[in-house]
Amino acid sequence: MSPLFLVYHQDYLTSYYTSTVECPARVKAIHAKLSNRFPIVEAQPAKREDILRVHTSAMVERVELESRETYETALLAAGGAIRASDEAMRGIPTFGLVRPPGHHAGPDRYWGYCFFNNIAVAITRLMANGTIASAVVIDLDLHDGDGTEAIFRDNPAVNIINVRAKTRTAFLEFLGQELGKSSGTDLLGISAGFDTYVRDWGGILGTEDYRAIGSNIRKAAHRLCQDRCFAVLEGGYYLPDLGKNVLAFCEGLAGL
Ligand SMILES: [Zn+2]
Repeated sequence: MSPLFLVYHQDYLTSYYTSTVECPARVKAIHAKLSNRFPIVEAQPAKREDILRVHTSAMVERVELESRETYETALLAAGGAIRASDEAMRGIPTFGLVRPPGHHAGPDRYWGYCFFNNIAVAITRLMANGTIASAVVIDLDLHDGDGTEAIFRDNPAVNIINVRAKTRTAFLEFLGQELGKSSGTDLLGISAGFDTYVRDWGGILGTEDYRAIGSNIRKAAHRLCQDRCFAVLEGGYYLPDLGKNVLAFCEGLAGL
């Protein structure tokens, strides 16, 4: 059995109207580094009913009006998170190499290069079908997962940890403390942003830090929820090193 699965679909390379920094080259760079390292599971589009558990029908219609490419790629990203969460439930850590990102998409509002909240769609589906009763979401991105917070605001069964820090040491310490404080849960979901990188906007974390973070999350998943852990790509815009940073994180998560 592989120590980690990668969920991917070539249609994540679709060009649709968004910020120029949130470009197909992001997933291309990551895929180039990871595709011969871990087995790939192909994503399927999410069903509209999966999306409607977390977003209003009015918002879904607004995304449809952006363009057909936007809507279909956003459905495929949410479907990638769903597939990653299903693999995680078998005890295999899984990374959803998806695009567009999702953590800024709230119940009736989307922004920040996000359309549907991929990680929230996946967790809400597992709760709705009775597979899990609780989850912890750890958001590693430079920016707050405000959409995820808004979606789960009234749901005490989902605990959201936004890791925010101005320095490398503070980031790693905060994450360690929060993981240590967490008690048993059914599933760990990671909003994996890499814009905290030293050469990216955040300017604090190095490649080996991502490996250590992946490894610490793996250990926490072992202790808290029988190794059930999935990560979904959020931000990360420094293309020359994005692939090696995600690889380091995944190797840590896989226990390699
Ligand atoms: Zn970000």
